[in-house]
Amino acid sequence: MSFSSGTPKFRIAICGAGIGGLVLAVTIGKFAGHDIHIDLYEAYDAIATAGAGISVSPRTSELMKELGMYEEVSRASTKFPSSSRGPKFRISNIPQGGFEWFQQEFEHTPMNIHRQNFADILKQYLPSSCRLHFNKRLTRYDKQLSGSLILHFADDSTATTDVLIGADGIRSSVRKTLFNTLDRDIVDPSKIGRYIDPVWTGTLVYRTVIPMEKILQVDPNNIALKDFILFCGKRKHVISYPVSEGTLFNVAAFVAAEQKPDTHFEGRWVSDVSNEEVQELYQDFEPAVRNMLKCSENPSRWALHVLNELPLFTYGRVALIGDACHAMEPHFGAGAGQAMEDAFVLGRLLAHPLTTLDSVPAALKVYQDVRLPLVQSLARESERTGRLYHLDSLSTDQGNEREELEIQRGKILSQWKWEGEGSAVSQWLEAERKLQDIAGLKNGADDASLLKL
Ligand SMILES: Cc1cc2nc3c(=O)[nH]c(=O)nc-3n(C[C@H](O)[C@H](O)[C@H](O)COP(=O)(O)OP(=O)(O)OC[C@H]3O[C@@H](n4cnc5c(N)ncnc54)[C@H](O)[C@@H]3O)c2cc1C
Repeated sequence: MSFSSGTPKFRIAICGAGIGGLVLAVTIGKFAGHDIHIDLYEAYDAIATAGAGISVSPRTSELMKELGMYEEVSRASTKFPSSSRGPKFRISNIPQGGFEWFQQEFEHTPMNIHRQNFADILKQYLPSSCRLHFNKRLTRYDKQLSGSLILHFADDSTATTDVLIGADGIRSSVRKTLFNTLDRDIVDPSKIGRYIDPVWTGTLVYRTVIPMEKILQVDPNNIALKDFILFCGKRKHVISYPVSEGTLFNVAAFVAAEQKPDTHFEGRWVSDVSNEEVQELYQDFEPAVRNMLKCSENPSRWALHVLNELPLFTYGRVALIGDACHAMEPHFGAGAGQAMEDAFVLGRLLAHPLTTLDSVPAALKVYQDVRLPLVQSLARESERTGRLYHLDSLSTDQGNEREELEIQRGKILSQWKWEGEGSAVSQWLEAERKLQDIAGLKNGADDASLLKL
């Protein structure tokens, strides 16, 4: 294996033009120029991201500075009101009126941005070395003896590439092919299904976007108008925050359903529902929530699915990023942010002068070594955080024992420590050191030892 620079380096196919796929293409373009030829394949006929708002933590927004788009994203995002440095938590399952539980204080506040606004910005930053192909749903890939890969699409067309990155979300076709074609001594064949199939968490999420004007008409003093608020209750919680420069509200209302987690979800994962269905679920919540939900526009119901922990994110010249390898519960608002961090670290590794086609598998392995432990731990902690928001361990419905609520508050705050630790850029620097170490150690050494998982 050689670790030296040379041009052009290789062709890369990115499957999925969601936030992860777009950030990967932008990163490679920014740091490799025309050294890497990118084909970005998207199943649909446009870049359209599901859902409304995303909140991006400061550790993730560091990478936007590196990509030169921070100012633009920042302008398009909605800041926390100057009076607050984090979300307010309320105990809200009291029909006559809830109470403020505590206010979280982030050291640096996250940015809240409408997904489509963000995707539109990313699209402008796509490099000229990237060709975007719409209506290309990957069904599987085959490996050729030469090492290159043949991509098969649902329209019966094919394409070839040197390197394939699956950024194709929770139902990833790349993940499916990768695990179905792994050597049997790498992964226990009886577990393959566990790695391919997403699992239902037992939670339903009702999502809607509400025009600010509408709430102002119904309830001009609604406490949700000015803040990022978590309205908590037993086995339910609602998050609301302004997006699109305060003209819209992003609302996500969570319900732990009767059906047990880990069972198969019957029906469509995402479906349109009536306003009445959403309102009905929160009849026992305080008026601010009920009034807000009355104004819902085209609410949809999402059966929240996640992935089991995967033993690997890469094999050979194929790797997975974002929800394709670590779809997690959204209680840290970190899924899209972590997809971006994967994309940034991986993109920089691929663009690095030390990475050649020969050493791509080693570079992908460095990506896995740096990212897998962090994202899998975040996924576990995010699930635990959801249970805390649902007041699972409180002895009464509203947890009105002061001491109990105080303990619960402490637990929630300590769950969020990860946000202040490290950043996308520090992870990249760690990855670069590992790449340099391997290149130094392994020049002229046996390939197999590096590729072994
Ligand atoms: C209720 C809820 C709230 C959330 N809130 C937040 C938040 O505040 N902050 C945050 O960071 N995250 C949040 N998330 C998580 C976030 O939405 C995801 O983690 C993020 O969208 C993952 O990005 P991705 O690019 O990996 O995948 P996706 O966004 O799923 O993109 C995958 C892309 O691949 C395409 N595709 C799929 N299959 C194929 C195929 N076979 N061939 C070609 N293309 C294909 C899709 O069309 C899509 O464009 C939330 C999630 C939920 C459910």
